[in-house]
Amino acid sequence: MSADHVKPGAVTLVGAGPGDPGLLTLNALRALQDADVILFDDLVSEGVLELARREARRMLVGKRGRQASCRQEDISALMIKLARAGKQVVRLKGGDPGIFGRAGEELAALRAAGIACRMVPGITAALAMAAAFGVSLTHRDHAQAVQFVTGHARDGRLPAHLNWRGLADPRTTTVFYMGAGTVQQIAANLRLHGLSADTPALWVANLSRPDERRWSGLLSALPGSIGDEELRCPLLIGIGRVFAEADCGAGTALCELQPPMPVAQALSA
Ligand code: SAH
Repeated sequence: MSADHVKPGAVTLVGAGPGDPGLLTLNALRALQDADVILFDDLVSEGVLELARREARRMLVGKRGRQASCRQEDISALMIKLARAGKQVVRLKGGDPGIFGRAGEELAALRAAGIACRMVPGITAALAMAAAFGVSLTHRDHAQAVQFVTGHARDGRLPAHLNWRGLADPRTTTVFYMGAGTVQQIAANLRLHGLSADTPALWVANLSRPDERRWSGLLSALPGSIGDEELRCPLLIGIGRVFAEADCGAGTALCELQPPMPVAQALSA
């Protein structure tokens, strides 16, 4: 077949959510079932990969913290090559592709190469964490804003230009991604900028996976709560008053779906 007849390929950046396949969107599922090739990160769970079309080729291009990973340029070059060969490529990323997921760099490379691309959002880890702990990140009695922050710059250290005064605002909810390795400095900086030592804090490791672990306590105890084991798994840290009511117990309550009922009728029932 000449190049003119090759069906045009495309790349879809898909959010895989935090692990539990039940947290995938229907659009993500459709993209996985239409894929010829899936390039996935190591944060993507087996359960999600199992939902992909059986014939789809799966390639781990993962990167995690300090471990060896494919170079970003190589991942982009591979996607471009596959799309030019007419493949439907899914670039599958943990959580949401646009939250600390390098989607921006990949979309720019694809656009520059003239490749059709689109993005399917996913449930970012912070939102799944709030649901798992039974907490509203913006409970209006406690917080008027939410901040998602990285605790890990390109060189593995705490990013140099974080706005600590803003992060220490007691009326915001702050969630640190990739903050396990820098938690000592995070807690010290927040204290230095005025956040009270008795501000509620928590973390969850391996959220929505069989080996999930949770901790909750106060900011003062946060640094001591993270040990070597936690440094080896994906871990999310939440800080703020909304977490005072966090439910650290295992298992989340299921909400039974019922047909909608008019509010007035429900109130008088
Ligand atoms: N795009 C992803 C984030 C990628 S950065 C998202 O939207 O969720 C990787 C960091 O995300 C991890 O270091 C950790 O801080 C957090 N993370 C992702 N999945 C997680 C999980 N299942 N449990 C705990 N933390 C998770």
